[in-house]
Amino acid sequence: MSTPDQPRAWRDDFPILEQSVNGHALIYFDNAATTQKPRAVIETLRHYYERDNANVHRGLHELSSRATDAYEAARAKVARFLGADSAEEIVFTRGTTEAINLVAQAWGGKNLRAGDVILLTEMEHHSNLVPWQLAAERTGARLRFVPVLEDGTLAPLDGLLTPEVKLFAFTHISNSLGTINPAAEFCRRAREVGAVTLVDGAQSAGHLPVDVREIGCDFFACSGHKMCGPTGSGALYGRAEMLDAMPPWQGGGEMIASVTYERSTFKAAPHKFEAGTPNIAGAIGLGAAVDYIESIGRERIFAHDEELTREAVERIGALPGVRVFGPRERGALVAFAAEWAHPHDLTTYA
Ligand code: PMP
Repeated sequence: MSTPDQPRAWRDDFPILEQSVNGHALIYFDNAATTQKPRAVIETLRHYYERDNANVHRGLHELSSRATDAYEAARAKVARFLGADSAEEIVFTRGTTEAINLVAQAWGGKNLRAGDVILLTEMEHHSNLVPWQLAAERTGARLRFVPVLEDGTLAPLDGLLTPEVKLFAFTHISNSLGTINPAAEFCRRAREVGAVTLVDGAQSAGHLPVDVREIGCDFFACSGHKMCGPTGSGALYGRAEMLDAMPPWQGGGEMIASVTYERSTFKAAPHKFEAGTPNIAGAIGLGAAVDYIESIGRERIFAHDEELTREAVERIGALPGVRVFGPRERGALVAFAAEWAHPHDLTTYA
Protein backbone atom coordinates (compact mmCIF):
# COMPACT_ATOMS: atom_id res chain seq x y z
CA MET A 1 0.00 0.00 0.00
CA SER A 2 1.10 3.56 -0.58
CA THR A 3 1.96 5.88 2.29
CA PRO A 4 0.14 9.26 2.28
CA ASP A 5 3.20 11.07 0.87
CA GLN A 6 3.77 8.69 -1.98
CA PRO A 7 1.14 9.94 -4.44
CA ARG A 8 2.58 13.44 -3.96
CA ALA A 9 6.04 12.09 -4.84
CA TRP A 10 4.63 10.34 -7.93
CA ARG A 11 2.87 13.55 -8.93
CA ASP A 12 6.22 15.33 -8.83
CA ASP A 13 7.48 12.94 -11.51
CA PHE A 14 5.14 14.60 -14.04
CA PRO A 15 6.41 18.06 -15.11
CA ILE A 16 3.13 18.95 -16.87
CA LEU A 17 1.34 18.90 -13.49
CA GLU A 18 3.47 21.78 -12.21
CA GLN A 19 1.29 24.31 -14.03
CA SER A 20 -1.96 26.04 -13.10
CA VAL A 21 -4.95 25.98 -15.43
CA ASN A 22 -7.70 28.58 -15.04
CA GLY A 23 -6.15 29.61 -11.73
CA HIS A 24 -6.10 26.09 -10.24
CA ALA A 25 -3.24 23.64 -9.77
CA LEU A 26 -3.70 21.16 -12.63
CA ILE A 27 -5.40 17.93 -11.63
CA TYR A 28 -5.66 15.71 -14.66
CA PHE A 29 -8.59 13.28 -14.82
CA ASP A 30 -8.32 12.12 -18.43
CA ASN A 31 -5.76 9.33 -18.03
CA ALA A 32 -8.07 6.77 -19.62
CA ALA A 33 -7.83 8.81 -22.84
CA THR A 34 -4.10 9.36 -22.53
CA THR A 35 -1.75 9.55 -19.56
CA GLN A 36 0.73 12.30 -18.89
CA LYS A 37 4.43 11.47 -19.25
CA PRO A 38 6.89 11.23 -16.37
CA ARG A 39 10.21 13.04 -16.56
CA ALA A 40 12.04 9.72 -17.07
CA VAL A 41 10.18 9.12 -20.35
CA ILE A 42 10.62 12.69 -21.58
CA GLU A 43 14.35 12.52 -20.76
CA THR A 44 14.71 9.19 -22.57
CA LEU A 45 13.19 10.72 -25.73
CA ARG A 46 15.44 13.77 -25.44
CA HIS A 47 18.52 11.62 -24.90
CA TYR A 48 17.63 9.46 -27.89
CA TYR A 49 17.19 12.41 -30.24
CA GLU A 50 20.22 14.28 -28.88
CA ARG A 51 22.64 11.33 -28.82
CA ASP A 52 21.53 8.16 -30.61
CA ASN A 53 19.07 9.02 -33.40
CA ALA A 54 19.57 6.81 -36.48
CA ASN A 55 17.61 4.21 -38.42
CA VAL A 56 17.44 0.70 -36.99
CA HIS A 57 18.41 -2.72 -38.40
CA ARG A 58 20.21 -1.38 -41.46
CA GLY A 59 23.09 1.01 -40.77
CA LEU A 60 26.40 -0.43 -39.68
CA HIS A 61 27.57 2.78 -38.07
CA GLU A 62 27.79 3.52 -34.35
CA LEU A 63 24.56 5.50 -34.03
CA SER A 64 22.57 2.90 -35.91
CA SER A 65 23.79 0.12 -33.68
CA ARG A 66 23.00 2.20 -30.59
CA ALA A 67 19.49 2.93 -31.88
CA THR A 68 18.98 -0.73 -32.80
CA ASP A 69 20.20 -1.94 -29.42
CA ALA A 70 17.92 0.50 -27.56
CA TYR A 71 14.94 -0.40 -29.79
CA GLU A 72 15.42 -4.15 -29.25
CA ALA A 73 16.10 -3.65 -25.53
CA ALA A 74 12.73 -1.89 -25.31
CA ARG A 75 11.09 -4.90 -26.99
CA ALA A 76 12.63 -7.20 -24.36
CA LYS A 77 11.33 -4.90 -21.58
CA VAL A 78 7.79 -4.97 -22.99
CA ALA A 79 8.01 -8.76 -23.31
CA ARG A 80 8.99 -9.14 -19.64
CA PHE A 81 6.37 -6.60 -18.58
CA LEU A 82 3.59 -8.57 -20.29
CA GLY A 83 4.92 -11.98 -19.29
CA ALA A 84 5.70 -13.11 -22.86
CA ASP A 85 8.03 -16.08 -23.40
CA SER A 86 10.37 -14.06 -25.59
CA ALA A 87 10.91 -10.66 -27.21
CA GLU A 88 10.03 -12.26 -30.58
CA GLU A 89 6.41 -12.36 -29.39
CA ILE A 90 6.22 -8.55 -29.22
CA VAL A 91 5.39 -6.53 -32.34
CA PHE A 92 5.71 -2.76 -31.98
CA THR A 93 2.64 -0.93 -33.28
CA ARG A 94 1.20 2.59 -33.17
CA GLY A 95 -1.07 1.45 -30.34
CA THR A 96 -3.96 -0.84 -29.54
CA THR A 97 -5.92 0.11 -32.65
CA GLU A 98 -3.10 -0.81 -35.00
CA ALA A 99 -2.37 -4.02 -33.07
CA ILE A 100 -5.98 -5.19 -33.45
CA ASN A 101 -6.07 -4.21 -37.13
CA LEU A 102 -2.90 -6.24 -37.64
CA VAL A 103 -4.56 -9.36 -36.20
CA ALA A 104 -7.85 -8.74 -38.02
CA GLN A 105 -6.04 -8.48 -41.35
CA ALA A 106 -3.17 -10.95 -41.03
CA TRP A 107 -4.79 -13.64 -38.86
CA GLY A 108 -8.37 -12.90 -39.95
CA GLY A 109 -7.50 -12.84 -43.67
CA LYS A 110 -5.91 -16.25 -43.44
CA ASN A 111 -8.26 -18.00 -41.03
CA LEU A 112 -11.80 -16.58 -41.25
CA ARG A 113 -14.36 -18.07 -43.64
CA ALA A 114 -18.06 -17.61 -44.44
CA GLY A 115 -20.10 -19.08 -41.59
CA ASP A 116 -17.44 -18.47 -38.94
CA VAL A 117 -18.37 -16.37 -35.92
CA ILE A 118 -16.29 -13.59 -34.37
CA LEU A 119 -17.37 -13.19 -30.75
CA LEU A 120 -17.07 -9.68 -29.29
CA THR A 121 -18.79 -8.00 -26.36
CA GLU A 122 -21.22 -5.10 -26.25
CA MET A 123 -18.68 -3.07 -24.24
CA GLU A 124 -15.92 -2.92 -26.88
CA HIS A 125 -14.15 0.26 -27.87
CA HIS A 126 -14.51 1.07 -31.58
CA SER A 127 -10.98 -0.19 -32.09
CA ASN A 128 -12.04 -3.70 -31.09
CA LEU A 129 -15.23 -3.53 -33.13
CA VAL A 130 -14.63 -1.84 -36.47
CA PRO A 131 -11.59 -3.97 -37.52
CA TRP A 132 -13.78 -7.06 -37.00
CA GLN A 133 -16.67 -5.53 -38.96
CA LEU A 134 -14.23 -5.00 -41.84
CA ALA A 135 -12.84 -8.54 -41.46
CA ALA A 136 -16.38 -9.92 -41.45
CA GLU A 137 -17.21 -8.03 -44.66
CA ARG A 138 -14.07 -9.34 -46.36
CA THR A 139 -14.47 -12.98 -45.30
CA GLY A 140 -18.21 -13.56 -44.83
CA ALA A 141 -17.77 -14.27 -41.11
CA ARG A 142 -20.49 -13.05 -38.72
CA LEU A 143 -20.23 -10.99 -35.56
CA ARG A 144 -21.84 -12.06 -32.29
CA PHE A 145 -21.90 -10.07 -29.06
CA VAL A 146 -21.83 -10.95 -25.36
CA PRO A 147 -24.52 -8.69 -23.84
CA VAL A 148 -23.77 -6.18 -21.09
CA LEU A 149 -25.99 -6.59 -18.03
CA GLU A 150 -27.63 -3.78 -16.06
CA ASP A 151 -24.82 -3.83 -13.45
CA GLY A 152 -22.14 -3.24 -16.09
CA THR A 153 -20.77 -6.80 -16.14
CA LEU A 154 -21.03 -9.22 -19.05
CA ALA A 155 -23.70 -11.89 -19.39
CA PRO A 156 -22.60 -15.53 -18.92
CA LEU A 157 -20.88 -16.98 -21.97
CA ASP A 158 -23.10 -20.09 -21.97
CA GLY A 159 -24.55 -20.69 -25.40
CA LEU A 160 -22.40 -18.01 -27.05
CA LEU A 161 -19.14 -19.94 -27.42
CA THR A 162 -20.41 -22.37 -30.04
CA PRO A 163 -18.07 -24.35 -32.32
CA GLU A 164 -18.46 -21.75 -35.13
CA VAL A 165 -16.68 -19.18 -32.95
CA LYS A 166 -13.17 -18.84 -34.39
CA LEU A 167 -12.13 -15.80 -32.37
CA PHE A 168 -13.16 -14.23 -29.08
CA ALA A 169 -11.90 -10.64 -28.76
CA PHE A 170 -12.76 -8.72 -25.61
CA THR A 171 -11.60 -5.81 -23.53
CA HIS A 172 -9.71 -6.50 -20.31
CA ILE A 173 -10.98 -3.29 -18.64
CA SER A 174 -13.90 -1.44 -20.21
CA ASN A 175 -13.07 2.16 -21.13
CA SER A 176 -16.69 3.20 -20.54
CA LEU A 177 -17.79 1.20 -17.47
CA GLY A 178 -14.52 0.31 -15.78
CA THR A 179 -15.58 -3.36 -15.70
CA ILE A 180 -12.64 -5.72 -15.22
CA ASN A 181 -13.37 -8.82 -17.25
CA PRO A 182 -12.12 -12.22 -16.04
CA ALA A 183 -9.66 -12.57 -18.91
CA ALA A 184 -8.12 -15.91 -17.85
CA GLU A 185 -11.55 -17.52 -17.47
CA PHE A 186 -12.75 -16.15 -20.84
CA CYS A 187 -9.62 -17.49 -22.56
CA ARG A 188 -10.03 -20.89 -20.93
CA ARG A 189 -13.67 -21.07 -22.04
CA ALA A 190 -12.72 -19.99 -25.59
CA ARG A 191 -9.97 -22.61 -25.79
CA GLU A 192 -12.54 -25.31 -24.97
CA VAL A 193 -14.22 -24.62 -28.34
CA GLY A 194 -10.90 -24.07 -30.13
CA ALA A 195 -11.37 -20.31 -30.49
CA VAL A 196 -8.41 -17.94 -30.72
CA THR A 197 -8.42 -15.12 -28.13
CA LEU A 198 -7.48 -11.46 -28.30
CA VAL A 199 -7.44 -9.27 -25.19
CA ASP A 200 -7.72 -5.50 -25.64
CA GLY A 201 -5.38 -4.34 -22.88
CA ALA A 202 -5.51 -0.61 -23.62
CA GLN A 203 -6.93 0.16 -20.17
CA SER A 204 -5.26 -2.64 -18.23
CA ALA A 205 -1.59 -2.81 -19.23
CA GLY A 206 -0.50 0.15 -17.09
CA HIS A 207 -2.87 -0.59 -14.19
CA LEU A 208 -2.94 -4.33 -13.53
CA PRO A 209 -0.11 -6.83 -13.21
CA VAL A 210 -0.66 -8.36 -16.67
CA ASP A 211 0.80 -11.78 -17.45
CA VAL A 212 -0.21 -13.13 -20.84
CA ARG A 213 0.80 -16.68 -19.86
CA GLU A 214 -1.47 -16.58 -16.83
CA ILE A 215 -4.26 -15.08 -18.93
CA GLY A 216 -3.63 -17.74 -21.57
CA CYS A 217 -4.51 -15.47 -24.50
CA ASP A 218 -3.23 -15.76 -28.07
CA PHE A 219 -3.01 -11.99 -28.58
CA PHE A 220 -2.82 -8.99 -26.23
CA ALA A 221 -2.90 -5.40 -27.51
CA CYS A 222 -1.87 -2.24 -25.65
CA SER A 223 -1.08 1.44 -26.18
CA GLY A 224 2.08 3.15 -24.92
CA HIS A 225 0.37 6.51 -24.49
CA LYS A 226 -2.11 5.08 -21.95
CA MET A 227 0.72 3.79 -19.77
CA CYS A 228 2.97 6.83 -19.42
CA GLY A 229 4.69 6.23 -22.78
CA PRO A 230 4.79 8.33 -25.96
CA THR A 231 1.85 8.67 -28.34
CA GLY A 232 2.18 6.52 -31.46
CA SER A 233 3.78 3.68 -29.49
CA GLY A 234 2.20 0.38 -28.54
CA ALA A 235 2.56 -3.34 -28.73
CA LEU A 236 0.93 -6.52 -29.87
CA TYR A 237 1.81 -9.67 -27.97
CA GLY A 238 1.21 -12.73 -30.13
CA ARG A 239 1.90 -16.28 -29.04
CA ALA A 240 4.92 -17.45 -31.05
CA GLU A 241 3.06 -20.13 -33.04
CA MET A 242 0.33 -17.65 -33.94
CA LEU A 243 2.74 -14.99 -35.22
CA ASP A 244 4.83 -17.56 -37.09
CA ALA A 245 1.77 -18.86 -38.95
CA MET A 246 0.49 -15.40 -39.93
CA PRO A 247 1.34 -13.69 -43.23
CA PRO A 248 2.63 -10.09 -43.20
CA TRP A 249 -0.03 -7.39 -43.28
CA GLN A 250 1.97 -4.47 -44.69
CA GLY A 251 4.87 -4.65 -47.11
CA GLY A 252 7.98 -2.49 -47.35
CA GLY A 253 11.51 -2.13 -46.06
CA GLU A 254 12.78 -3.75 -42.85
CA MET A 255 10.36 -6.71 -43.06
CA ILE A 256 11.93 -8.51 -46.03
CA ALA A 257 14.57 -11.23 -46.04
CA SER A 258 15.12 -11.10 -49.83
CA VAL A 259 13.53 -9.21 -52.73
CA THR A 260 13.49 -9.60 -56.48
CA TYR A 261 11.28 -7.66 -58.89
CA GLU A 262 8.84 -10.56 -58.88
CA ARG A 263 8.71 -11.69 -55.26
CA SER A 264 9.96 -11.34 -51.74
CA THR A 265 10.61 -13.50 -48.74
CA PHE A 266 10.03 -12.20 -45.25
CA LYS A 267 11.90 -12.02 -42.00
CA ALA A 268 10.65 -14.02 -39.02
CA ALA A 269 8.23 -12.50 -36.51
CA PRO A 270 8.15 -9.88 -35.12
CA HIS A 271 10.05 -8.12 -37.93
CA LYS A 272 7.78 -9.34 -40.71
CA PHE A 273 5.01 -7.25 -39.10
CA GLU A 274 7.07 -4.05 -38.85
CA ALA A 275 7.28 -2.68 -42.41
CA GLY A 276 9.09 0.61 -42.90
CA THR A 277 11.00 2.72 -40.42
CA PRO A 278 9.29 2.15 -37.10
CA ASN A 279 8.56 4.68 -34.37
CA ILE A 280 12.02 4.13 -32.89
CA ALA A 281 11.89 6.89 -30.29
CA GLY A 282 8.34 5.84 -29.36
CA ALA A 283 9.38 2.25 -28.72
CA ILE A 284 12.40 3.31 -26.66
CA GLY A 285 10.16 5.74 -24.75
CA LEU A 286 7.70 2.90 -24.15
CA GLY A 287 10.57 0.89 -22.67
CA ALA A 288 11.29 3.82 -20.31
CA ALA A 289 7.58 3.93 -19.38
CA VAL A 290 7.71 0.22 -18.51
CA ASP A 291 10.74 0.89 -16.28
CA TYR A 292 8.88 3.77 -14.62
CA ILE A 293 5.73 1.73 -13.95
CA GLU A 294 7.80 -1.16 -12.63
CA SER A 295 9.72 1.18 -10.33
CA ILE A 296 6.37 1.87 -8.61
CA GLY A 297 4.87 -1.59 -9.09
CA ARG A 298 1.55 -2.46 -10.71
CA GLU A 299 0.15 -3.94 -7.47
CA ARG A 300 0.69 -0.57 -5.81
CA ILE A 301 -0.74 1.30 -8.78
CA PHE A 302 -3.83 -0.91 -8.71
CA ALA A 303 -4.24 -0.47 -4.94
CA HIS A 304 -3.96 3.31 -5.35
CA ASP A 305 -6.44 3.21 -8.28
CA GLU A 306 -8.87 1.27 -6.08
CA GLU A 307 -8.65 3.80 -3.26
CA LEU A 308 -9.22 6.79 -5.56
CA THR A 309 -11.96 5.07 -7.56
CA ARG A 310 -13.89 4.03 -4.43
CA GLU A 311 -13.83 7.60 -3.19
CA ALA A 312 -14.79 9.01 -6.60
CA VAL A 313 -17.74 6.59 -6.97
CA GLU A 314 -18.98 7.37 -3.45
CA ARG A 315 -18.68 11.14 -3.74
CA ILE A 316 -19.93 11.50 -7.31
CA GLY A 317 -22.76 9.02 -6.63
CA ALA A 318 -23.86 11.08 -3.59
CA LEU A 319 -24.53 14.18 -5.72
CA PRO A 320 -28.23 14.84 -6.32
CA GLY A 321 -29.56 13.60 -9.66
CA VAL A 322 -26.29 11.87 -10.56
CA ARG A 323 -26.05 8.22 -11.60
CA VAL A 324 -22.75 6.35 -11.70
CA PHE A 325 -22.52 3.55 -14.27
CA GLY A 326 -20.63 0.28 -14.00
CA PRO A 327 -19.92 -2.38 -11.37
CA ARG A 328 -18.60 -1.83 -7.84
CA GLU A 329 -15.38 -3.75 -8.49
CA ARG A 330 -13.77 -1.80 -11.29
CA GLY A 331 -10.68 -0.29 -12.84
CA ALA A 332 -9.78 3.37 -12.41
CA LEU A 333 -12.63 4.75 -14.52
CA VAL A 334 -15.85 6.41 -13.43
CA ALA A 335 -18.62 7.17 -15.92
CA PHE A 336 -21.67 9.07 -14.70
CA ALA A 337 -24.61 11.11 -15.94
CA ALA A 338 -26.37 14.04 -14.29
CA GLU A 339 -30.08 14.33 -14.99
CA TRP A 340 -29.76 18.12 -14.84
CA ALA A 341 -27.02 18.65 -17.44
CA HIS A 342 -25.88 17.27 -20.78
CA PRO A 343 -22.40 15.64 -20.40
CA HIS A 344 -21.01 18.10 -22.93
CA ASP A 345 -22.25 21.11 -20.97
CA LEU A 346 -21.06 19.60 -17.69
CA THR A 347 -17.53 19.12 -19.03
CA THR A 348 -17.42 22.60 -20.52
CA TYR A 349 -18.69 24.13 -17.28
CA ALA A 350 -16.22 22.16 -15.14
N1 PMP B 1 -9.46 -0.11 -26.40
C1 PMP B 1 -9.80 0.55 -25.29
C2 PMP B 1 -10.49 -0.18 -24.19
C3 PMP B 1 -9.50 1.92 -25.18
O1 PMP B 1 -9.83 2.58 -24.07
C4 PMP B 1 -8.83 2.56 -26.26
C5 PMP B 1 -8.51 4.05 -26.22
N2 PMP B 1 -9.49 4.84 -25.64
C6 PMP B 1 -8.49 1.82 -27.38
C7 PMP B 1 -8.81 0.48 -27.42
C8 PMP B 1 -7.78 2.43 -28.54
O2 PMP B 1 -6.48 2.78 -28.20
P1 PMP B 1 -5.57 3.65 -29.17
O3 PMP B 1 -6.40 4.84 -29.58
O4 PMP B 1 -4.41 4.03 -28.32
O5 PMP B 1 -5.20 2.80 -30.32
